Amino acid sequence: MYHHLFGPVPSRRLGVSLGIDLTPDTSCTFNCVYCECGKTERLTRERREYVPTADVIAELRACLSAAPFLDSITFSGSGEPTLHSGIGEIIAFLKDEYPQYRVTVLTNSSLLDTEDVRAELLRADLVIPSLDAISDPVFRKVNRPLPGITSASIINGVRAFCAEFTGAVWIEIFIVPGINDTAEELELFKTTLQTLRFDRVQLNTLDRPGAVSWIVPVPAARLEEIARSLGGGVELVATRRDSRALPTSDVLVRDLVLSTIQVRPCTAADLATVTGLPASDIETCVQDLLARGLAESKMEERGLFYFARTGMRTAR
Ligand code: SF4
Repeated sequence: MYHHLFGPVPSRRLGVSLGIDLTPDTSCTFNCVYCECGKTERLTRERREYVPTADVIAELRACLSAAPFLDSITFSGSGEPTLHSGIGEIIAFLKDEYPQYRVTVLTNSSLLDTEDVRAELLRADLVIPSLDAISDPVFRKVNRPLPGITSASIINGVRAFCAEFTGAVWIEIFIVPGINDTAEELELFKTTLQTLRFDRVQLNTLDRPGAVSWIVPVPAARLEEIARSLGGGVELVATRRDSRALPTSDVLVRDLVLSTIQVRPCTAADLATVTGLPASDIETCVQDLLARGLAESKMEERGLFYFARTGMRTAR
């Protein structure tokens, strides 16, 4: 059982993704209304070794020595991964020892205005920086940041990073209906995006329960309308799951299901995707976890979600 790795989980855009969680105590610079992981426990911008870097590297070595099939090794997890002062060392380890794997960093962009942080991410293959607002009042409503972090500092950091990084950049905008999709804000997005170097812009919407109850998913037609208004290069984060099955012959299905829902709530269809098992087997497995008190369920717009009772959280 790993403490700092999770999954592989089915990612809507990354495929089969092995997650690395560097901030298990849910430390983040933001407290986003849409966070799948609930309320931020520790609002901070202190960079430190939240978990021992050597332990993360040891777990990665143990896991990757079996040469698992993965589309991505992804820094995401329970908070903002760039808060961890060892992220650069871990990325360097992966690229030196396992260059065949794509390394992805999901970041809320709040530390990209720091030269050291930008330098530490340079060896990643793909960075997905969030940019959820351009105007400061909208930024505060959506991301609810630590005092002192402004939309200007986010934009400046993203701009500097995009200019320095030679890998792929997919800017993510999480649409919170009625807050950051007004005509005025979309116009600001359009003019700001024209000043940035990126490979894609992806619009995201609620897929799992957020941190507040009032946030709802944006209908696909509205997302497409927003994408058109922002101009070329803007796409939607697919809601359809990657149907590729994982090899499960040497994995206990129940452990896999439990470790998956410890990271984030999943429907039975999500779990079928990650394990490659028929829905009936998943049903048996989750019923067993429910009966043992290891899991709970909650009905949401997309269906019945299962989550571990002592679950962690994961970003985006
Ligand atoms: S969505 Fe990401 S950036 Fe926002 S509070 Fe959650 S972990 Fe932090």
